[in-house]
Amino acid sequence: MFNTLSDRLTQTFKNLRTKGRLSEADIDATIREIRRALLDADVAVSVVREFTGAVRERALSSEVSGALNPAQQVVKIVNEELVGILGGETRTLRFSKNPPTVIMLAGLQGAGKTTLAGKLALSLREQGHTPLLVAADLQRPNAVTQLGVVAERAGAPVFAPHPGNQGAETDTVIGDPVAVARDGVAHARAKQHDVVIIDTAGRLGIDELLMRQASDIRDATNPDEVLFVIDAMIGQDAVATAKAFEEGVDFTGVVLSKLDGDARGGAALSVAKVTGRPILFASTGEKLTDFEVFHPDRMASRILDMGDVLTLIEQAEKAFDAEQAQIMADKVASGKDFTLADFLVQMQQLRSMGSMKKMLGMLPGMGQMREAIDNFDEREVDRVEAIVRSMTPAERENPKLINGSRRARIAKGSGTTTTDVNQLLERFENAQKMMRQMARGGGMPGMPGMGG
Ligand code: GDP
Repeated sequence: MFNTLSDRLTQTFKNLRTKGRLSEADIDATIREIRRALLDADVAVSVVREFTGAVRERALSSEVSGALNPAQQVVKIVNEELVGILGGETRTLRFSKNPPTVIMLAGLQGAGKTTLAGKLALSLREQGHTPLLVAADLQRPNAVTQLGVVAERAGAPVFAPHPGNQGAETDTVIGDPVAVARDGVAHARAKQHDVVIIDTAGRLGIDELLMRQASDIRDATNPDEVLFVIDAMIGQDAVATAKAFEEGVDFTGVVLSKLDGDARGGAALSVAKVTGRPILFASTGEKLTDFEVFHPDRMASRILDMGDVLTLIEQAEKAFDAEQAQIMADKVASGKDFTLADFLVQMQQLRSMGSMKKMLGMLPGMGQMREAIDNFDEREVDRVEAIVRSMTPAERENPKLINGSRRARIAKGSGTTTTDVNQLLERFENAQKMMRQMARGGGMPGMPGMGG
């Protein structure tokens, strides 16, 4: 996300770092480059102007001239101002003291509302909530069915127009979305769901009817949060769309979707500033787990290639089973061998964190390695997993059993070649050796290498 912008800004700062004292001309040259990078990334003109104005003023002040390292100080200022544009403090969902908490989703068709409904439901369930999804998008014939599908994946029930027929409607949906939304909230209250997520209809463009329907649903359900979902890839239109929705439905927060795309995405960065509404979440893919709380400070760090180690750690904590990790650590410390079966478990945990590319991208300084990251072949991980899965339990415990004919069988079973199998076994043996050494040295074992 924001790769191009990130690269441009990092390059600008690199040029700056070669200088000791900064003259006004140096600062102006830097500001110019920042301005160009932001504009090229589709950040709204008004936002760029305000941003560069603030950075320039601070950069010319004693804050920088008196600093030990002026260039670093400029980067710090840019970072702080960027955090400001993105909304400053992290803002989390507001829950009602008088449940159910009602969350209404609004936005253009294709923005990612239905997908977000599933992502939110899953994330809320993980936090112990009991969300109900309400299908108030009766515009698209398929919308109710689609919500049913994501709801099922999220493990949350759906309230749909024809009760008892959840998600089964395809082309015969008729009904009043306002009534459905209202009934959905009543249903949640009766069934003691503590959160209701209302999916509403979107159009391809902004139109009056759509806005009226959205504001009618809002008035009928009195939501605690109205989340405006915006596709980060829509470019300059983002600002106009956001303003139209701000006037039309007066949302309480923003969700940026499709941040995984390689689009310039800068327009989405303007939305918080232009509407004065905070960004609550970021959607980063089609899977329900591709979803993050939006932290303005961490996003600024990512854009400036300072890394987002905190999000990385949080995702790791979510994915890794502490008990399993302890068993593994004990096993290695006690001198027992780390087996291919253990390797498979670790790999599955690693996989559940999301794609390797996404994780690598969160490490500081990775901008320079972008090409390597982009070329990282996720399928390599698939291959390794397929190979280990094609082994028998006995083979995973004791790879020495794997003779020539077994190798051929494993290659066939995993759709790979015996060379692939040989390479994996060799790499595994090396990793095992390393872990034995570490165990002897008393250090904590890390992940055995599996990259090529
Ligand atoms: P809605 O019309 O607003 O309900 O939008 P949908 O939830 O149906 O999403 C439209 C399309 O965008 C679907 O194909 C989704 O799979 C896809 N989509 C939604 N969110 C994301 C995201 O964060 N990243 C990517 N790459 N695709 C997304």
